[in-house]
Amino acid sequence: MTTRATHSSALVWLFVAALGCGGGDAAHGAPSSAGAASGSSAAAGSATAAPSAPSATAQASATQAPEDPDAPFEVIDLHVDTPYEVHMKNRPVSLPEGHATPDALRAGHYVGIVYPLYIADYMNHDHPRVADAEALLGTIDRILSAHPDLLHREGADSAAPVTAYLSIEGGGAFAEDVTAIDRFIARGVRLVGLVHAHDSPLATSATGKDRKRGLSDKGKELGRRVYAAGALVDVSHMSDASFEDVVPLAKAAGAPIVATHSNARALAKHKRNLTDAQLRAIAASGGVAGLNFHGPYLRTTGKAKLADVVAHAKHMIEVAGIEHVAIGSDFDGGNPPKGLGDASKLPDLAQALLAAGLSRSDVRQIFSGNARRVLGWKPAAAPR
Ligand SMILES: [Zn+2]
Repeated sequence: MTTRATHSSALVWLFVAALGCGGGDAAHGAPSSAGAASGSSAAAGSATAAPSAPSATAQASATQAPEDPDAPFEVIDLHVDTPYEVHMKNRPVSLPEGHATPDALRAGHYVGIVYPLYIADYMNHDHPRVADAEALLGTIDRILSAHPDLLHREGADSAAPVTAYLSIEGGGAFAEDVTAIDRFIARGVRLVGLVHAHDSPLATSATGKDRKRGLSDKGKELGRRVYAAGALVDVSHMSDASFEDVVPLAKAAGAPIVATHSNARALAKHKRNLTDAQLRAIAASGGVAGLNFHGPYLRTTGKAKLADVVAHAKHMIEVAGIEHVAIGSDFDGGNPPKGLGDASKLPDLAQALLAAGLSRSDVRQIFSGNARRVLGWKPAAAPR
């Protein structure tokens, strides 16, 4: 993205506004029917579009009312580890400290937050269990009950501004019983990761020992099950071999590939980050990669800065396209850079992205639009 993109989309809007709705569409390569560019269909359809073309931005500008330049950039964050802090480190459910306090979420204009049921590899002396996931679900419920004016579970009838979505991080415990995942998905889990820092019986980890092996048969069975039940596999923390095994499973299900909290390996050579080929596979599936603010994933030497997040965003947009980059801060799990120290600082990231040449519409897609699209994914009706 360049400043040119910002200016051209503004000019297109002015041009279309002068001609009346739809009049200028054809000249700019936008769909001829007004409204065709709205909603998730446009986002899904543009998965194959050339990433650098400004057409998506132009289309959005051409079919929407002019934006209020003072409107805040709402945030849907794909990975915030607050439940783990409460569950394992006795943080009070009032959330008086950390990266995602109620005040910080409000100041950051959060409207969505994915709380992982993080089943740590060392949670039990032997191995993590499904029962641990049950207990974590209880912890999340306690957090939500403590903040009825701020947080509500996805689907709940509530005026609280922040929707809490659920994910599983480190789902190796489900090797115990892959059918158990169904009841977690039924209780709202939208994203399921099969590993954390170590290899699990389901898949190998980016930071594990056996990175050549990918998903086990059980891992593939779980992946298919997750998609069939309407949730998504999270490829963050997976080894490259495991990622590769997820691609055909996602394709068979028509599902987007989601890396909730992973950056670009081209910029920070860390195994937790995504190669350009993986970013392209994510884009081809209609999926997203969530920008992770953890210092070592932003740069491998020196202190990470807010500018590093901007650099990863720009690279990921260049490789995957604007529809395929989201936010996955890793707040309360990672060490964010100075200038992006907690959830209240997201508006500063928005300003930095605008200063780097992204349009307001680009920032909206990264901050909430793309995440909303994948969180709303549903499997196609089963063939008769
Ligand atoms: Zn993680």
